[in-house]
Amino acid sequence: MKAFVTGGAGFIGSHLTDSLLDMGTEVHIIDNLSSGKKEYVNPAAVFHEKDISDPSIVELIDLHKPDYIYHLAAQADVNRSTECPYQDMKTNLIGTINLLDGCRKAPIKKFIFSSTSAVYGNGPDKKLTEQSPLNPASFYGLSKVSAEKYIQLYGDFFSVPFSILRYGNVYGPRQTAKGEGGVIAVFLEKLKQSERLKLNGDGDQTRDFIYVQDIVDANIAASMHHSNDIFHISTGSSASINKLIELLKDLHPSPIDYFHSENRIGDIKHSCLDNSKAVNSLNWSPSFSLKEGILQTYRSFLKK
Ligand code: NAD
Repeated sequence: MKAFVTGGAGFIGSHLTDSLLDMGTEVHIIDNLSSGKKEYVNPAAVFHEKDISDPSIVELIDLHKPDYIYHLAAQADVNRSTECPYQDMKTNLIGTINLLDGCRKAPIKKFIFSSTSAVYGNGPDKKLTEQSPLNPASFYGLSKVSAEKYIQLYGDFFSVPFSILRYGNVYGPRQTAKGEGGVIAVFLEKLKQSERLKLNGDGDQTRDFIYVQDIVDANIAASMHHSNDIFHISTGSSASINKLIELLKDLHPSPIDYFHSENRIGDIKHSCLDNSKAVNSLNWSPSFSLKEGILQTYRSFLKK
């Protein structure tokens, strides 16, 4: 088996690459290292340092004829998407279309796309299903919705088989603490530097935190799914930011210093994705509890 992993030098893509290589898959990484790191590129993979918005991606796919394309490369920073909607669109939409055009030239078994709960925007505070209205509140969310729609039409018009995976809040080793990096990575980086943690608002806001290895396993499970569909890849339960602090207090040998700041404008109070469709259809379910996932992540950041 041969797989392309776009974004394979990034947080989730590098873990996916490791697992695919362990399974004996030949892996080609496409990454322009804009947020990914060279040291995360598994040396057993073939590395193409390329931008997915470059039309030559079509020829690269035709040349290597992968069985699967796991498409993770993205401009994934909400703030940057506001600063530069064009660059966000170029990577997230044009890049996706280039890859889909490659699949028209060299048919594949499955195109597995990393999408996000940001497609729903500031929806109601209840558990979201895959049928909940799409109402992105950022250019990032909008570019992901658009990419999803292109993927679905390429499926209809050109028989490109796909799975679209909308993730909860992913955390784990190698996540960047820069910019809009996940809150767990940001907290752990602060602990490492012995700095105070900042909690936005009262800390009662909740998120559906899912460990990176569960995301990897879902990608692999989705590659074997027979039909074209959209799935939530999440735990289906949520935890508050205050709960994260409690879990970190149990692990950290010295007291944790933190303070509350103003609520961030536009922040969603609660976010939780119903994962029952994925659990019932993909022969997958999340296996890491928040406690276990935080322990693994803590150890990797603090090198314990
Ligand atoms: P990441 O920034 O660590 O990885 C993205 C990778 O894509 C990086 O290695 C980067 O260098 C590469 N890249 C960016 N633009 C590129 C371009 N034009 N051409 C080639 N490579 C390019 O992000 P991540 O957290 O690993 O996210 C992976 C995917 O999962 C993204 O599609 C993201 O939208 C999605 N996602 C992530 C989360 C999360 O909580 N981390 C949640 C929902 C969805």
